[in-house]
Amino acid sequence: MKLVFATGNSGKLREASEILGDGFELSSLAQVGITEDIPETGNTLRANSLQKAQYLYDICACNCFADDTGLEVDALGGAPGVYTARYAGDDKDFNKNMDKVLHELEVLESERSMAASLGLKTKKPSRRARFKSVITLIINGEIKMFEGTLEGEIAREKSGNGGFGYDPIFIADEYPGQTLADITEEQKNEISHRGKALRAMAEWLKTQNL
Ligand code: IMP
Repeated sequence: MKLVFATGNSGKLREASEILGDGFELSSLAQVGITEDIPETGNTLRANSLQKAQYLYDICACNCFADDTGLEVDALGGAPGVYTARYAGDDKDFNKNMDKVLHELEVLESERSMAASLGLKTKKPSRRARFKSVITLIINGEIKMFEGTLEGEIAREKSGNGGFGYDPIFIADEYPGQTLADITEEQKNEISHRGKALRAMAEWLKTQNL
């Protein structure tokens, strides 16, 4: 089956091809001649994932899917959430985004220390966090959504050279003491939010008579 993936990221395309396995032929946006940025103006991951898939479907009228991912940090009230890619500005600079998250957690922790030194009782800010991915598949004109979550916590500092985005500051529960940028691509794909959503989509597709 041929599917177009609404991504320009070759790493994501490779990951999805590996997870979907034989029987699926994936193309990226560039491979079907789409070079513009697909708008993402929704207020939720589901809305953005749907918007991207529909935008692509309107152009190609083909079987296709899109993903949208967000990082939720408990102490930051679920931020960056839907603003994950642009948390520190429109240039989508990964380092600035990570620095902003680390800085905001530091500020909360120093506020808590100050309050404690004044004898006030305050709760330690939680570094618990999770990545969430939502995939929207449009198959024969019908829409189906799949989700995947990876639980973990925000590290105190960046570590590792692998991965992308916020990987150097995210410690998954499955690999304590190592960030997603410290572990191998295979280890990450096995546990990742996107991996789970992609596998859920692959499982569903296998049950369909397409
Ligand atoms: P997108 O929806 O896949 O474009 O993801 C939005 C933003 O989330 C990206 O720009 C990255 O900063 C971040 N992100 C998505 N997936 C991952 C991941 O697997 N690891 C780290 N950061 C990610």
